[in-house]
Amino acid sequence: MTKALIIGGGIAGPVTAVALQRAGIASVVYEAYPENAGTAGAFLTVAVNGLDALRALDLHRPVMDLGFSTRTIDLVSGTGKHLGTLPIGGVLPDGTTTHTIKRSDLYRALYEAARRRGIDVHHGKRLVDAEVAANGGVTARFEDGTRAAADLLIGADGIHSRVRRVIDPAAPDPRHLGLGNVGGFTRTAAVRTPAGAYVMTFGKRAFFGYVVHPSGEIWWFANPPSTQASGRGAQEALTSDQWKARLIDLFADDAGPTVDIIRSTTELVGGTDQYDLPKVPAWYRGPMIIIGDAAHAASPSSGQGASMAVEDAVVLAKCLRDLPEPAAAFTAFERLRRPRVERVVAFGARSSSNKAPGPVGRVIRDLLMPFFVKLIALQSQDWLFGYHIDWNE
Ligand SMILES: Cc1cc2nc3c(=O)[nH]c(=O)nc-3n(C[C@H](O)[C@H](O)[C@H](O)COP(=O)(O)OP(=O)(O)OC[C@H]3O[C@@H](n4cnc5c(N)ncnc54)[C@H](O)[C@@H]3O)c2cc1C
Repeated sequence: MTKALIIGGGIAGPVTAVALQRAGIASVVYEAYPENAGTAGAFLTVAVNGLDALRALDLHRPVMDLGFSTRTIDLVSGTGKHLGTLPIGGVLPDGTTTHTIKRSDLYRALYEAARRRGIDVHHGKRLVDAEVAANGGVTARFEDGTRAAADLLIGADGIHSRVRRVIDPAAPDPRHLGLGNVGGFTRTAAVRTPAGAYVMTFGKRAFFGYVVHPSGEIWWFANPPSTQASGRGAQEALTSDQWKARLIDLFADDAGPTVDIIRSTTELVGGTDQYDLPKVPAWYRGPMIIIGDAAHAASPSSGQGASMAVEDAVVLAKCLRDLPEPAAAFTAFERLRRPRVERVVAFGARSSSNKAPGPVGRVIRDLLMPFFVKLIALQSQDWLFGYHIDWNE
């Protein structure tokens, strides 16, 4: 029986393990963190296409149960002007809608689903290197000095992937997007928005979004400008109080409840810098392949990174099921996935660039945004949200 090592126990990792099991391939997941960490980014949306891919493995229910339906985004300018309303993926024929879920809940749900199916997930195992063995298999080496060998190695180790570098030492680094990310939760700010409807504000100096959970709790995120010069880790170094002070200052001139939400926040999560990864030339070498953010990361503004990771996992397992030679399976996987994921990354980069224009760009953006929103509403988003993987095909 073929055996795979999966590096990374985030989103793509556990889903790949479950999908491979369906395909008759055994696997073990190795996660760098001692426990499921994964609070960075606080919460995320799993779009209808991601939920549809999870459904192929019967994994959609726990994710939907822990999250809540979020169907629209109201766009607002810093002056309080309503710029338009966008749907987030509409409603699938069976009634499924895009859901928002805490990142820690999503990781835990997927991890527990893998464990329930008897899949081993080892924590505290940071991959440092991997070598192709003489028999065509692969041996992974971990930071703690241990090793593991198998027929295949799947790098699901996220945007700063080590496996990407092992496959191709010249692989590109992620691209810094000029934005940071910080989020939080509060119950006490006064907002009148119905549950499940995102409100996103193109503020005068930064971008802010919030959504009300059915319990009444407000979940929010902000994208303050961030220069690459501040370096990886600079955002992480700020304390909660420092973040609050900085954000209140950034949003002081904007209409709406932003400052009130930030001031009343009881739990602040963050911050991080935002990156994407538009083109990684080599996704595989010999028995090793990368998937999810390790291979192609869309900006968080796309709302699609998690869904792309899930889709990759299901498609890769299907390719390995149908084409047992890794080289043929990896070639088929790349052919099926590369055009789609690169289109999503480009879509995310466009959304992201709207969030941080200069003063002139801001005026033009706010003037043109209502037309853009109408245009987007008229265009079919089916290429993005209507993607379906038929596992039994
Ligand atoms: C602020 C923010 C907001 C976002 N919002 C959204 C959203 O709303 N919707 C959406 O779809 N996506 C969103 N995303 C993107 C989404 O989080 C990613 O696309 C998704 O997590 C990718 O899944 P993955 O499994 O490929 O990688 P990850 O989820 O990053 O998992 C990688 C795992 O690999 C582990 N790892 C790393 N290196 C090693 C190593 N050397 N050895 C072993 N393990 C290792 C990590 O600890 C981690 O657990 C957001 C991202 C950010 C940063």
